[in-house]
Amino acid sequence: MIKPEKGRLAVYESPQAPFVIRELPLRAPHPAEVLVKIRMSTICRSDIHSYLGHRPNPCPGVLGHEIIGDIVELGDCVTHDMRGSALMPGDRITWSEFFIPGTSFHTDVLDLPQKAPGVEKYGHMAVTTDPHHHGGFGEYCYVLPRSWILKLPSEISDEEATPINCGVATMICVTEQAEIRIGDSVLIQGLGLLGLYGAAIAKARGAKTVIGLDTVAARRELGRRFGVDHALDPGSMSEAELAQRVLELCPPEGADAVIEVCGDPGVIPVGLQCLRTGGRYVLGGVVNPDSSVRIDANLVLRKLITLRGVHNYHPRNLLEALDFVQANRLHFPFHELVDGKYRLDEVGKAMEDAAERRVLRAAIIP
Ligand SMILES: [Zn+2]
Repeated sequence: MIKPEKGRLAVYESPQAPFVIRELPLRAPHPAEVLVKIRMSTICRSDIHSYLGHRPNPCPGVLGHEIIGDIVELGDCVTHDMRGSALMPGDRITWSEFFIPGTSFHTDVLDLPQKAPGVEKYGHMAVTTDPHHHGGFGEYCYVLPRSWILKLPSEISDEEATPINCGVATMICVTEQAEIRIGDSVLIQGLGLLGLYGAAIAKARGAKTVIGLDTVAARRELGRRFGVDHALDPGSMSEAELAQRVLELCPPEGADAVIEVCGDPGVIPVGLQCLRTGGRYVLGGVVNPDSSVRIDANLVLRKLITLRGVHNYHPRNLLEALDFVQANRLHFPFHELVDGKYRLDEVGKAMEDAAERRVLRAAIIP
C-alpha cells in the first residue's frame, strides 16, 4: 500500500457551523498506534448532540466514533487484536470508541476502564490536537494507544460492522446491566437504533416478552423484525394506561427490566411504574448534562428497584457485540439499519437527515 501524506476531514468550527473539508498531514504511526483508512463511519445520536451544542465538544472539531477501516500501517508495538488474532496491513478492523491514558484505580481495582480518569473518545477532540485524524468523518483515522482493536470477519458487511463499536456494544452493556435472563419480560423505551439492537439482544439473552415504545409508527413496525413482541405508541395513551397495558402484558406484576434509550428523562417515572417488585431499570440514552426529572423515590424504595446507568462500555462488551452480530445476522436484518449513505462532502446533509430522523443510521463513506 502506498503511504499517504495527507488526508481529508470534515471539520466544523463551532456548534451548528457548516462542515468544511480540510486536508491535514498524516505521519507514520507511533509504536502503539495504527493508521487506518476509513471505510465507513455512521452518525450516532451523540454526534448530533455534540454538533448542536447540547453538550461540550472541543472545536474546531471532527466528529464520528462509529468507524471501521482498513489498516494502512501498524505501529511497532501493535501485533494482535484483543482476541489474539495477528494484525496485518489491509485487515479490516473495528475498535473501541474510547481510549485511556494508562493504568489507574478505575482500570485495575474497579474494573471500569471505560470511566478511567483521562478517558478520551474518537470524534470528541479538537482537530488541532495531534494527530488531527481521530474522528470518523474523514479519510483516515489513527487508532490511538490503549484502544481495543478487533479484526472483522469477512462475512460481516460494512453496514453490519460499523455500529458495533458504539450502538451494539452499548446495548450489550445495557442488557448485561439489566440482568436479562431466560423468560424475562423487558420494556424498551425508544426504538431508535439502540432500542432495536436492545430488543434483538434481549431476545438472544432469552427474554420471553419484549415490549417496545416509540411514537414513530415506522420504528414500531421495524421493531417487530428485531424481536419486539408488542410495539406501543406512548403518545396515544396516558401514563396510567401505559403502565396498565404493560402490566397486562407482563403478568403477574410488571416488567422484570426496563431500559431507557430514548434520551428523554421525562419517561423515567412511567418506566419505574412498569417494573415488578425487585425489577431493574437501566438508563442508556440520557447522555446530555442537566437531564433532570422528578421521581417518587419512595416507589424505588418500596418496590426494591435497582437503578443503573450505562456510559461507554467495558472492552469485553465490544468483543461480545461483534460475536452477537456475527451469530445473529441471519435472524435480524441488521444491514437495513444503515439506511442512508453520504460522501464526505455531504456530512452536513447527513447530519440534518439524521437529526430530523429521516434516516435511522446515516453512513459517511469517504
Ligand atoms: Zn455513539
